[in-house]
Amino acid sequence: MIYKALSIAGSDNSGGAGIQADLKVFSAFGVYGMSAVTSVTVQNTLGVKGSHPVPSDILFEQIKAVVEDIGVDAFKTGMLQTEENVLAVYQAVKDLRMKNFVADTVIRSKNGKYLLDKSAIETFIKRIVPLADIITPNIDEAEVLTGIEIRSVDDMIRAAKELYRMGSSAVVVKGGHLPQGDRIVDIFYNGDLYTLEYPYVRTKNTHGTGCTFSAAITACLAKGYDHLKAVRVARSYIQGAIENSLSIGKGTGSLNHFW
Ligand code: PLP
Repeated sequence: MIYKALSIAGSDNSGGAGIQADLKVFSAFGVYGMSAVTSVTVQNTLGVKGSHPVPSDILFEQIKAVVEDIGVDAFKTGMLQTEENVLAVYQAVKDLRMKNFVADTVIRSKNGKYLLDKSAIETFIKRIVPLADIITPNIDEAEVLTGIEIRSVDDMIRAAKELYRMGSSAVVVKGGHLPQGDRIVDIFYNGDLYTLEYPYVRTKNTHGTGCTFSAAITACLAKGYDHLKAVRVARSYIQGAIENSLSIGKGTGSLNHFW
């Protein structure tokens, strides 16, 4: 059996995030990886310096080409950059009847560069969130998407419930930016509430953590795991990838997919 996953995301030429990270993750999970590039970024471990969106018709055609030929068991979206590209993904998912959708709610990079145009956020909420099987916002993204100020685990739970109400079948609000003492608490909500706790790993080398997590969930969905199991397996994988992260470059190093 060959499991097949597609990443619809931006290119990170430094290899730590975006398409490049996703393909490494798919390989680590023994899943055949494919890509549809939304944007070509210029970046290294010091941050995102520039980006150039791919035209939305080319994005749509990349997705269609692999869906119609090879087949896609599960797919994820990452950086979408423009409203046109958000709409191209929406159209592709609908027209091609794509299943098992993990939407990573990428809005801006650690160094503050918008990876989704501010003007595209409303369309993302309206078109993408309701199509998703699982969305994976961090605290900042959950705040932008819901308008809820998040200062505690209870706030994270409120935001997860709100995002579920907005249409995603399941929601993971990631607590990596809000350590609870020596623990990180993630909230999973699919109508039922689950709290996932892991030891807080103190490292600056966390570039691409969100991409890696959502790609790992996607690989698990491609293998037929249910939503909760996929999130649990992906979260354990992330823990190891952070514990063994790579001190490369002058800034924020990348995760290690093959430790
Ligand atoms: N570049 C691309 C293409 C991304 O998709 C992302 C995050 O999703 C980033 C850069 C930012 O990664 P980080 O904020 O982990 O540095």
